[in-house]
Amino acid sequence: MVTRSGNINRKDAEWLKSWQPHLVNQTKAKDAFSFQAQLLKSQAESGKNIARLSHKQAVALLSHCINRVPYYKDYLQYVGIGQLKDNSRLWSRLPIIGRDDLLERGTDFRAWQLPPGHRPLGTLRSSGSTGTPVEVVSTNVSNGWQKAFALRSAIWARQDFTKTLGVIRKFSRPSTCLPDGETSDHWADPEGIPFNTGQRFGLEATEGSIEQQLDWIIRKKPDYLMTYPSVLRELCALSQDRNDAWRPLGLTTLGETVDDELRAQIRDIWNQDIHDVYSAEETGVIAIQCPSHGRYHIQSEALLVEIVDDSGRACGPGKEGRVVISTLSNYATPLIRYAVGDRAVAGPSCGCGRSLPVLTRILGRERNLLVTEKGKFWPSFGTRRFRQVAPIAGQVFRQTSLDVIEMHYVGTNALTEPQEQELRRLINQALPHEMTIKLIRVDEITRPASGKSEIFISDLAGS
Ligand SMILES: [Zn+2]
Repeated sequence: MVTRSGNINRKDAEWLKSWQPHLVNQTKAKDAFSFQAQLLKSQAESGKNIARLSHKQAVALLSHCINRVPYYKDYLQYVGIGQLKDNSRLWSRLPIIGRDDLLERGTDFRAWQLPPGHRPLGTLRSSGSTGTPVEVVSTNVSNGWQKAFALRSAIWARQDFTKTLGVIRKFSRPSTCLPDGETSDHWADPEGIPFNTGQRFGLEATEGSIEQQLDWIIRKKPDYLMTYPSVLRELCALSQDRNDAWRPLGLTTLGETVDDELRAQIRDIWNQDIHDVYSAEETGVIAIQCPSHGRYHIQSEALLVEIVDDSGRACGPGKEGRVVISTLSNYATPLIRYAVGDRAVAGPSCGCGRSLPVLTRILGRERNLLVTEKGKFWPSFGTRRFRQVAPIAGQVFRQTSLDVIEMHYVGTNALTEPQEQELRRLINQALPHEMTIKLIRVDEITRPASGKSEIFISDLAGS
């Protein structure tokens, strides 16, 4: 008897296989295809086996770190390798590190020697939305995993590789700038997407207005669109205002948190579900949204992800906590129990048949929490309704003190008194208690150098 859970893994494998006739005639492409077939098998293993393999990799990583990475040279004081081999729970004895550690002692995190087969490739620079950049060296191995996860994400989303793909993100190369952006004949190199594909159009996210970016989309008419949630939110709202006929065949988001409001907006206006990939620059892909249930599957083959409470204890299913990551495949700048700065909710197994562990929700950065005397909250302002009150082309919020929120908005005209009153009322409706709302008109909302943007930042929350 074929179980339901066996089915989804079989379907993933069949989808991959159905693209075999489109395989690029290169060894690298054939290797990527075989690797992906293996990866689709590993997601069908039992949860226990997946955890066992992750733990084995974690022990090997720790061994490497103690011997070859200055920052971790004294880590044997926390747990012996032999002890850890026998008891995976002892991993939690290792300290949790954060962005500040990486900033202060960056070079101490670099391995002075790599195992055979691992070659350093380049530096991943995470500029963050507010802070100083941190640097992580990637290798051929860690890069290979990133490419494999990108392909897995496309397979899960059942993307048709013969279609065209539009990508609006930070590229940092002049060829991707307006007015035309960059056109490639393939979605990615054959090591990443090993098939002959439709064209890919790339546009730099940090330059130009949303109007210009939407004009570009209308000219290029990509079938699929991949971009940051904040860009998608504005593109979709503007497209509705302008009554544009272009509709995406599929949407992938990356780099920022997707909230329920955005999902509803995209469903209403474009009749599409968002396929989200959760990643951080320092760690690469962390989890991919499950198309069957909307939860996120942790990419355990290359990462160990823990959700811990504020005192460092593991959170059970349903409980929100900090996301702590160990990068199992990057031996050049290994991160062991690195708090990436996000909060998420761990979940029970998904039920779709893919056995990779689950995050039910990813809530975003700690600085995106509203701070009140009664605790911290995730604000959701229902900004779609704002456009019915006044012609507002975009907005961001900042909590400056316990009782004050500023809304910076872009608008052609100053708001009238009744419009201001109505907006204050709507914003206060979304808050746990009434606050003073300052409305500040700005010429534009500038996108940070990282390309990512945050709708709400509290000056009172941690980073
Ligand atoms: Zn699932």
